[in-house]
Amino acid sequence: MRLYSTLQRQLVELPPPPAKIGIYVCGPTVYQRIHVGNARPYVIFIWLRNWLRQRDYEVELVSNITDVNDKIYDEARQENRASTDLAEEMSDWYLKDTDRLGLGRPDAEPTATETMDDIVALIAELVESGHAYEAQGDVYFRVGHYGDYGQLSRQKPDQVEDQEPNPLKEDARDFALWKATKEGEDTSWDSPWGKGRPGWHIECSAMASKLLGPAFEIHGGGLDLVFPHHENELAQSRAAGQEFAHIWMHNGLLRLTGEKMSKSLGNVATLKAVLDDYGYPRSRETLLLFFMTGHWRNPIDFSPETMMQARTQVDAFRELFRMKIDRSTQQFPQGWDPEAEGLKFEEALDNDFNTPDALAILHKARSAWDQDFIKERLGVFGLDSLAAPEEEAPVEIVEWAEKRQAARATQDFAEADRLRDEIAAAGWEVRDVSVERGYQLVKRD
Ligand SMILES: [Zn+2]
Repeated sequence: MRLYSTLQRQLVELPPPPAKIGIYVCGPTVYQRIHVGNARPYVIFIWLRNWLRQRDYEVELVSNITDVNDKIYDEARQENRASTDLAEEMSDWYLKDTDRLGLGRPDAEPTATETMDDIVALIAELVESGHAYEAQGDVYFRVGHYGDYGQLSRQKPDQVEDQEPNPLKEDARDFALWKATKEGEDTSWDSPWGKGRPGWHIECSAMASKLLGPAFEIHGGGLDLVFPHHENELAQSRAAGQEFAHIWMHNGLLRLTGEKMSKSLGNVATLKAVLDDYGYPRSRETLLLFFMTGHWRNPIDFSPETMMQARTQVDAFRELFRMKIDRSTQQFPQGWDPEAEGLKFEEALDNDFNTPDALAILHKARSAWDQDFIKERLGVFGLDSLAAPEEEAPVEIVEWAEKRQAARATQDFAEADRLRDEIAAAGWEVRDVSVERGYQLVKRD
């Protein structure tokens, strides 16, 4: 199993199973309802966890909730409410909205607030070792002291922009680990440098090592986090003597495309709105299948058209599972070899977790009417619901349908039509595929 890592700029092989794979993914900053784009890393890394477990790895997925951050203070001030109150409500919404994806939860979802002691201890360690210094209640990381700064994002150290202008800093490139409490901030914590609160980057460094140890396999997040967030996380943790993450996976961003989309949805394409409005009543499956269509490293275009295409694919799989196929006599068309295709499916996911290739193989199986092949492989993506039985037709309807099959087999089409009408009158629709391949019974809306 290999994955592309931003740090090494190449595919990096995982240790063989049953190695322990710790994964840390940067979760949302909770100041508003999460955007559908924030759902992408959530989905990708839960899928990756599922796949690694299926490949016999021992996996622990940690995804944090950033509940102390400038954005939260700013939004709370605008809404004239307590920042803790806002963060709590938005955390709650985040859990509710992502629960609707039906993928389960990460194994741990730490918050900055509950990790405060570890955050302060990590900063103190960096001050002690000379990698950080205090300036009037703030603490800054000495970028110049850390020789490998820029190795993740390939920023040249002399070209790094000042991320946090402050005349008290020794060097414009230095970034804050701790910020003294400012006017208008309604929460603060005690520290050796006075009352204040942590910077965003150190929160993640502390949460990751607290839960996964000083060295772990994978750090993930959106491509927009490479610099400065992840560059700074890496610098701090390595300066503190930790190996930290080995592989750095950055997912491509979700782009809102199409004229209508940018006008009507703009920045309010929340996960909730998408789950409410697209592909109903199969919006959950539609969104998950939509995410499968893009390789995790590439950007993905979200529009009514691309969601419609995903819905069409969802319906196509659904249709296949409505088929009553006698598997004991089923013969696959030429060119469909389940064993060979199964290996290709594994290789697609083992080789940089290529979900579009895996999806293409599932469609090939669909064309070959191989229900079992697909059914066994949908679970990783939370799409096993597509293979779940729908409301079963009552016995007498099935009997009529079977009689009708028999009538068609003997070319008694008048009798076949009569039975079709009876079935329709009872509220069911019988759909023919072919005499050999059977029929479907679908309840009419
Ligand atoms: Zn982070």
